[in-house]
Amino acid sequence: MAKLFEKVALIGIGLIGSSIAREIRDKGLAAAVTISTRSRETLDRAEVLGLGDRYVLSAGEAVEDADLVIVSVPVGASGTVAQAIAPHLKAGAIVTDVGSTKGSVIAQMAPHLPASVHFIPGHPIAGTEYSGPDSGFVGLFKSRWCILTPPAGTDETAKGQLRAFWEALGSDVEEMDPEHHDKVLAIVSHLPHIIAYNIVGTADDLETVTESEVIKYSASGFRDFTRLAASDPTMWRDVCLHNKDAILEMLSRFSEDLAYLQRAIRWGDGDKLFDLFTRTRAIRRSIIQAGQDTDMVDFGRHALDAKS
Ligand code: NAP
Repeated sequence: MAKLFEKVALIGIGLIGSSIAREIRDKGLAAAVTISTRSRETLDRAEVLGLGDRYVLSAGEAVEDADLVIVSVPVGASGTVAQAIAPHLKAGAIVTDVGSTKGSVIAQMAPHLPASVHFIPGHPIAGTEYSGPDSGFVGLFKSRWCILTPPAGTDETAKGQLRAFWEALGSDVEEMDPEHHDKVLAIVSHLPHIIAYNIVGTADDLETVTESEVIKYSASGFRDFTRLAASDPTMWRDVCLHNKDAILEMLSRFSEDLAYLQRAIRWGDGDKLFDLFTRTRAIRRSIIQAGQDTDMVDFGRHALDAKS
Protein backbone atom coordinates (compact mmCIF):
# COMPACT_ATOMS: atom_id res chain seq x y z
CA MET A 1 0.00 0.00 0.00
CA ALA A 2 1.23 3.55 -0.71
CA LYS A 3 2.92 5.54 2.02
CA LEU A 4 0.50 8.20 3.33
CA PHE A 5 2.76 10.08 5.77
CA GLU A 6 6.50 10.61 6.22
CA LYS A 7 6.56 10.71 10.02
CA VAL A 8 3.88 9.53 12.41
CA ALA A 9 4.01 10.03 16.19
CA LEU A 10 1.94 7.73 18.37
CA ILE A 11 1.31 9.07 21.88
CA GLY A 12 -0.01 6.16 23.96
CA ILE A 13 0.69 2.59 22.84
CA GLY A 14 -2.01 0.43 24.43
CA LEU A 15 -4.67 -1.61 22.62
CA ILE A 16 -5.57 1.16 20.17
CA GLY A 17 -2.15 2.81 19.74
CA SER A 18 -0.39 -0.51 19.22
CA SER A 19 -3.05 -1.73 16.78
CA ILE A 20 -2.49 1.45 14.74
CA ALA A 21 1.30 0.90 14.95
CA ARG A 22 0.93 -2.68 13.70
CA GLU A 23 -1.30 -1.52 10.83
CA ILE A 24 1.21 1.17 9.78
CA ARG A 25 4.03 -1.39 9.82
CA ASP A 26 1.95 -4.06 8.08
CA LYS A 27 0.74 -1.77 5.29
CA GLY A 28 3.80 0.51 4.98
CA LEU A 29 1.72 3.64 5.58
CA ALA A 30 4.55 5.80 6.96
CA ALA A 31 8.30 6.20 6.46
CA ALA A 32 8.96 6.45 10.22
CA VAL A 33 6.95 5.94 13.40
CA THR A 34 7.95 7.43 16.76
CA ILE A 35 6.32 5.98 19.85
CA SER A 36 5.87 7.70 23.17
CA THR A 37 4.17 6.55 26.35
CA ARG A 38 4.41 7.78 29.91
CA SER A 39 6.00 4.70 31.50
CA ARG A 40 9.41 3.21 30.77
CA GLU A 41 7.94 -0.30 31.14
CA THR A 42 5.34 0.15 28.38
CA LEU A 43 7.86 1.93 26.14
CA ASP A 44 10.34 -0.93 26.50
CA ARG A 45 7.60 -3.43 25.72
CA ALA A 46 6.66 -1.50 22.56
CA GLU A 47 10.31 -1.65 21.51
CA VAL A 48 10.54 -5.39 22.15
CA LEU A 49 7.42 -5.81 20.00
CA GLY A 50 9.06 -3.68 17.28
CA LEU A 51 6.06 -1.38 16.97
CA GLY A 52 7.97 1.68 15.76
CA ASP A 53 11.30 3.13 14.64
CA ARG A 54 12.01 5.44 17.59
CA TYR A 55 10.96 5.24 21.24
CA VAL A 56 10.94 8.25 23.58
CA LEU A 57 9.36 9.00 26.93
CA SER A 58 8.84 12.68 26.13
CA ALA A 59 5.63 13.25 24.13
CA GLY A 60 7.00 16.66 23.08
CA GLU A 61 10.14 15.12 21.61
CA ALA A 62 8.07 12.45 19.84
CA VAL A 63 5.95 14.91 17.84
CA GLU A 64 8.84 17.04 16.53
CA ASP A 65 8.78 16.76 12.69
CA ALA A 66 5.70 14.48 12.75
CA ASP A 67 3.15 14.96 9.95
CA LEU A 68 0.54 12.95 11.80
CA VAL A 69 0.17 12.77 15.59
CA ILE A 70 -2.26 10.23 17.06
CA VAL A 71 -3.09 10.54 20.76
CA SER A 72 -4.33 7.22 22.21
CA VAL A 73 -4.52 7.75 25.98
CA PRO A 74 -7.45 7.63 28.43
CA VAL A 75 -9.70 10.62 27.65
CA GLY A 76 -9.00 12.25 31.03
CA ALA A 77 -5.33 12.60 30.08
CA SER A 78 -5.99 14.36 26.73
CA GLY A 79 -5.48 17.91 28.04
CA THR A 80 -2.15 17.12 29.72
CA VAL A 81 -0.88 15.45 26.55
CA ALA A 82 -2.03 18.39 24.37
CA GLN A 83 -0.22 20.80 26.67
CA ALA A 84 2.97 18.72 26.49
CA ILE A 85 3.05 18.38 22.69
CA ALA A 86 1.77 21.85 21.70
CA PRO A 87 5.12 23.75 21.66
CA HIS A 88 6.79 20.98 19.63
CA LEU A 89 4.25 20.48 16.83
CA LYS A 90 5.29 21.12 13.23
CA ALA A 91 3.21 23.69 11.34
CA GLY A 92 0.74 21.88 9.08
CA ALA A 93 0.78 18.66 11.13
CA ILE A 94 -2.45 16.73 11.61
CA VAL A 95 -3.26 16.07 15.27
CA THR A 96 -5.93 13.50 16.01
CA ASP A 97 -7.04 11.25 18.85
CA VAL A 98 -9.01 8.04 19.32
CA GLY A 99 -10.85 8.89 22.53
CA SER A 100 -14.26 7.40 23.26
CA THR A 101 -15.74 10.80 24.15
CA LYS A 102 -15.44 13.78 21.87
CA GLY A 103 -16.89 16.94 23.48
CA SER A 104 -14.61 16.64 26.51
CA VAL A 105 -11.49 15.74 24.51
CA ILE A 106 -12.00 18.77 22.26
CA ALA A 107 -12.55 21.02 25.29
CA GLN A 108 -9.34 19.70 26.88
CA MET A 109 -7.08 19.68 23.80
CA ALA A 110 -8.17 22.52 21.50
CA PRO A 111 -7.15 25.43 23.79
CA HIS A 112 -3.54 24.18 23.89
CA LEU A 113 -3.02 23.42 20.19
CA PRO A 114 -1.54 26.11 17.91
CA ALA A 115 -3.63 27.41 14.98
CA SER A 116 -0.87 26.20 12.63
CA VAL A 117 -1.89 22.52 13.06
CA HIS A 118 -4.99 20.69 11.87
CA PHE A 119 -6.81 19.25 14.89
CA ILE A 120 -9.24 16.57 13.71
CA PRO A 121 -10.63 14.50 16.60
CA GLY A 122 -11.57 10.90 15.87
CA HIS A 123 -12.93 7.72 17.40
CA PRO A 124 -12.56 4.23 15.91
CA ILE A 125 -15.60 2.15 16.91
CA ALA A 126 -13.53 -0.96 17.48
CA GLY A 127 -11.99 -2.51 20.54
CA THR A 128 -11.74 -5.43 22.89
CA GLU A 129 -11.70 -5.81 26.67
CA TYR A 130 -7.89 -6.09 26.66
CA SER A 131 -5.37 -3.32 27.15
CA GLY A 132 -1.65 -2.61 26.78
CA PRO A 133 0.76 -2.90 23.82
CA ASP A 134 0.54 -6.70 23.62
CA SER A 135 -3.21 -6.64 23.09
CA GLY A 136 -3.22 -4.81 19.74
CA PHE A 137 -3.53 -6.59 16.42
CA VAL A 138 -3.79 -6.05 12.69
CA GLY A 139 -7.42 -6.19 11.62
CA LEU A 140 -8.98 -4.51 14.67
CA PHE A 141 -10.36 -1.66 12.57
CA LYS A 142 -11.38 -3.71 9.52
CA SER A 143 -15.02 -3.15 8.55
CA ARG A 144 -15.53 -1.00 11.64
CA TRP A 145 -16.63 2.63 11.62
CA CYS A 146 -14.29 5.46 12.47
CA ILE A 147 -16.06 8.69 13.40
CA LEU A 148 -14.28 12.00 12.78
CA THR A 149 -15.56 15.17 14.45
CA PRO A 150 -13.73 17.95 12.57
CA PRO A 151 -14.42 21.51 13.70
CA ALA A 152 -16.12 23.82 11.17
CA GLY A 153 -13.63 25.16 8.63
CA THR A 154 -11.21 22.21 8.91
CA ASP A 155 -8.79 22.07 5.99
CA GLU A 156 -10.25 19.69 3.38
CA THR A 157 -6.87 18.27 2.34
CA ALA A 158 -5.94 17.41 5.94
CA LYS A 159 -9.35 15.83 6.47
CA GLY A 160 -8.94 13.82 3.26
CA GLN A 161 -5.51 12.58 4.40
CA LEU A 162 -6.83 11.42 7.77
CA ARG A 163 -9.83 9.80 6.11
CA ALA A 164 -7.50 7.98 3.68
CA PHE A 165 -5.43 6.77 6.65
CA TRP A 166 -8.42 5.19 8.42
CA GLU A 167 -9.68 3.74 5.15
CA ALA A 168 -6.25 2.13 4.65
CA LEU A 169 -6.81 0.45 8.05
CA GLY A 170 -10.04 -1.00 6.64
CA SER A 171 -12.44 1.38 8.37
CA ASP A 172 -15.47 3.15 6.99
CA VAL A 173 -15.25 6.82 7.91
CA GLU A 174 -18.13 9.05 8.92
CA GLU A 175 -18.18 12.67 10.10
CA MET A 176 -20.29 13.74 13.02
CA ASP A 177 -20.90 16.67 15.32
CA PRO A 178 -19.10 15.94 18.66
CA GLU A 179 -22.26 16.38 20.76
CA HIS A 180 -24.15 13.94 18.57
CA HIS A 181 -21.24 11.50 18.73
CA ASP A 182 -21.38 11.61 22.53
CA LYS A 183 -25.12 10.85 22.57
CA VAL A 184 -24.85 8.00 20.08
CA LEU A 185 -21.92 6.45 21.92
CA ALA A 186 -23.67 6.87 25.27
CA ILE A 187 -26.36 4.43 24.13
CA VAL A 188 -24.36 2.03 21.95
CA SER A 189 -21.24 1.76 24.09
CA HIS A 190 -21.19 3.61 27.40
CA LEU A 191 -24.55 2.43 28.74
CA PRO A 192 -23.93 -1.24 27.85
CA HIS A 193 -20.62 -1.10 29.72
CA ILE A 194 -22.21 0.58 32.75
CA ILE A 195 -25.02 -2.00 32.79
CA ALA A 196 -22.43 -4.78 32.54
CA TYR A 197 -20.31 -3.34 35.37
CA ASN A 198 -23.48 -3.02 37.43
CA ILE A 199 -24.88 -6.52 36.89
CA VAL A 200 -21.51 -8.17 37.50
CA GLY A 201 -21.11 -6.04 40.63
CA THR A 202 -24.61 -7.04 41.81
CA ALA A 203 -23.85 -10.72 41.31
CA ASP A 204 -20.62 -10.26 43.24
CA ASP A 205 -22.52 -8.69 46.15
CA LEU A 206 -25.28 -11.32 46.42
CA GLU A 207 -25.56 -13.21 49.66
CA THR A 208 -28.10 -15.83 48.55
CA VAL A 209 -26.19 -17.06 45.49
CA THR A 210 -22.53 -17.95 45.88
CA GLU A 211 -19.75 -16.67 43.66
CA SER A 212 -18.90 -20.21 42.61
CA GLU A 213 -22.52 -20.74 41.46
CA VAL A 214 -22.41 -17.51 39.43
CA ILE A 215 -19.26 -18.68 37.70
CA LYS A 216 -20.41 -22.29 37.27
CA TYR A 217 -23.72 -21.40 35.61
CA SER A 218 -22.54 -18.25 33.80
CA ALA A 219 -23.07 -19.66 30.29
CA SER A 220 -26.78 -18.96 30.71
CA GLY A 221 -26.26 -15.24 29.96
CA PHE A 222 -24.11 -13.73 32.69
CA ARG A 223 -20.80 -14.42 30.94
CA ASP A 224 -21.73 -12.14 28.03
CA PHE A 225 -21.83 -9.24 30.46
CA THR A 226 -18.52 -10.22 32.04
CA ARG A 227 -16.65 -9.58 28.79
CA LEU A 228 -17.71 -5.92 28.85
CA ALA A 229 -17.23 -5.69 32.61
CA ALA A 230 -13.62 -6.86 32.20
CA SER A 231 -12.76 -3.70 30.24
CA ASP A 232 -10.02 -1.35 31.43
CA PRO A 233 -11.07 0.44 34.67
CA THR A 234 -9.07 3.62 33.94
CA MET A 235 -10.49 3.99 30.45
CA TRP A 236 -14.06 3.46 31.63
CA ARG A 237 -13.76 5.66 34.69
CA ASP A 238 -12.65 8.44 32.33
CA VAL A 239 -15.46 7.74 29.83
CA CYS A 240 -18.06 8.02 32.62
CA LEU A 241 -16.56 11.23 33.98
CA HIS A 242 -16.14 12.80 30.55
CA ASN A 243 -19.48 11.99 28.92
CA LYS A 244 -21.49 12.66 32.04
CA ASP A 245 -24.46 14.55 30.55
CA ALA A 246 -25.19 12.14 27.70
CA ILE A 247 -24.71 9.09 29.95
CA LEU A 248 -27.04 10.49 32.62
CA GLU A 249 -29.65 11.25 29.95
CA MET A 250 -29.48 7.69 28.59
CA LEU A 251 -29.43 6.18 32.11
CA SER A 252 -32.59 8.02 32.99
CA ARG A 253 -34.33 6.71 29.84
CA PHE A 254 -33.01 3.26 30.64
CA SER A 255 -34.35 3.39 34.22
CA GLU A 256 -37.82 4.43 32.99
CA ASP A 257 -37.89 1.57 30.49
CA LEU A 258 -36.67 -0.87 33.13
CA ALA A 259 -39.49 0.23 35.45
CA TYR A 260 -41.95 -0.48 32.59
CA LEU A 261 -40.48 -3.97 32.22
CA GLN A 262 -40.59 -4.47 36.00
CA ARG A 263 -44.31 -3.58 36.05
CA ALA A 264 -45.04 -5.94 33.16
CA ILE A 265 -43.36 -8.78 35.07
CA ARG A 266 -45.12 -7.87 38.35
CA TRP A 267 -48.56 -7.79 36.69
CA GLY A 268 -47.94 -10.86 34.56
CA ASP A 269 -48.35 -8.86 31.34
CA GLY A 270 -46.94 -11.46 28.93
CA ASP A 271 -48.02 -9.52 25.80
CA LYS A 272 -45.90 -6.52 26.75
CA LEU A 273 -42.90 -8.72 27.43
CA PHE A 274 -43.38 -10.68 24.20
CA ASP A 275 -43.75 -7.50 22.09
CA LEU A 276 -40.57 -5.96 23.49
CA PHE A 277 -38.54 -9.14 23.13
CA THR A 278 -39.72 -9.48 19.51
CA ARG A 279 -38.73 -5.89 18.70
CA THR A 280 -35.26 -6.31 20.21
CA ARG A 281 -34.66 -9.55 18.35
CA ALA A 282 -35.08 -7.64 15.07
CA ILE A 283 -32.31 -5.22 16.11
CA ARG A 284 -29.94 -8.15 16.57
CA ARG A 285 -30.80 -9.35 13.04
CA SER A 286 -30.10 -5.85 11.64
CA ILE A 287 -26.67 -5.77 13.30
CA ILE A 288 -25.77 -9.09 11.67
CA GLN A 289 -27.10 -7.89 8.30
CA ALA A 290 -24.96 -4.72 8.61
CA GLY A 291 -21.84 -6.90 9.06
CA GLN A 292 -21.17 -5.63 12.61
CA ASP A 293 -21.38 -9.16 14.07
CA THR A 294 -21.93 -12.72 12.85
CA ASP A 295 -24.70 -15.19 13.64
CA MET A 296 -22.24 -17.82 14.87
CA VAL A 297 -23.18 -19.32 18.23
CA ASP A 298 -20.15 -17.84 20.00
CA PHE A 299 -21.04 -14.43 18.52
CA GLY A 300 -18.22 -15.11 16.08
CA ARG A 301 -15.79 -13.68 18.61
CA HIS A 302 -13.05 -16.14 17.90
CA ALA A 303 -13.24 -15.48 14.19
CA LEU A 304 -13.61 -11.71 14.58
CA ASP A 305 -10.86 -11.29 17.16
CA ALA A 306 -8.44 -13.68 15.49
CA LYS A 307 -5.07 -12.04 15.36
CA SER A 308 -4.01 -11.81 11.74
P1 NAP B 1 -4.70 1.11 27.00
O1 NAP B 1 -4.50 -0.15 26.28
O2 NAP B 1 -4.98 1.06 28.47
O3 NAP B 1 -3.41 2.06 26.77
C1 NAP B 1 -3.39 3.35 27.32
C2 NAP B 1 -2.15 4.11 26.88
O4 NAP B 1 -2.27 5.43 27.45
C3 NAP B 1 -0.83 3.55 27.42
O5 NAP B 1 0.21 3.87 26.52
C4 NAP B 1 -0.66 4.29 28.74
O6 NAP B 1 0.66 4.50 29.11
C5 NAP B 1 -1.20 5.66 28.38
N1 NAP B 1 -1.72 6.36 29.55
C6 NAP B 1 -2.51 5.87 30.53
N2 NAP B 1 -2.79 6.83 31.44
C7 NAP B 1 -2.14 7.95 31.01
C8 NAP B 1 -2.03 9.26 31.53
N3 NAP B 1 -2.66 9.63 32.66
N4 NAP B 1 -1.26 10.15 30.84
C9 NAP B 1 -0.63 9.79 29.70
N5 NAP B 1 -0.70 8.56 29.17
C10 NAP B 1 -1.45 7.65 29.81
O7 NAP B 1 -5.88 1.98 26.37
P2 NAP B 1 -6.65 1.84 24.96
O8 NAP B 1 -7.68 0.77 25.07
O9 NAP B 1 -5.65 1.78 23.85
O10 NAP B 1 -7.44 3.21 24.94
C11 NAP B 1 -6.83 4.41 24.50
C12 NAP B 1 -7.91 5.39 24.06
O11 NAP B 1 -8.69 4.77 23.04
C13 NAP B 1 -8.88 5.80 25.16
O12 NAP B 1 -9.13 7.18 25.08
C14 NAP B 1 -10.15 5.04 24.84
O13 NAP B 1 -11.30 5.78 25.23
C15 NAP B 1 -10.05 4.91 23.32
N6 NAP B 1 -10.73 3.74 22.75
C16 NAP B 1 -10.62 2.53 23.38
C17 NAP B 1 -11.27 1.42 22.83
C18 NAP B 1 -11.18 0.07 23.51
O14 NAP B 1 -12.01 -0.81 23.26
N7 NAP B 1 -10.21 -0.16 24.36
C19 NAP B 1 -12.00 1.55 21.63
C20 NAP B 1 -12.05 2.80 21.00
C21 NAP B 1 -11.41 3.88 21.57
P3 NAP B 1 1.50 3.59 30.14
O15 NAP B 1 1.16 2.16 29.86
O16 NAP B 1 2.91 3.95 29.78
O17 NAP B 1 1.10 4.02 31.51
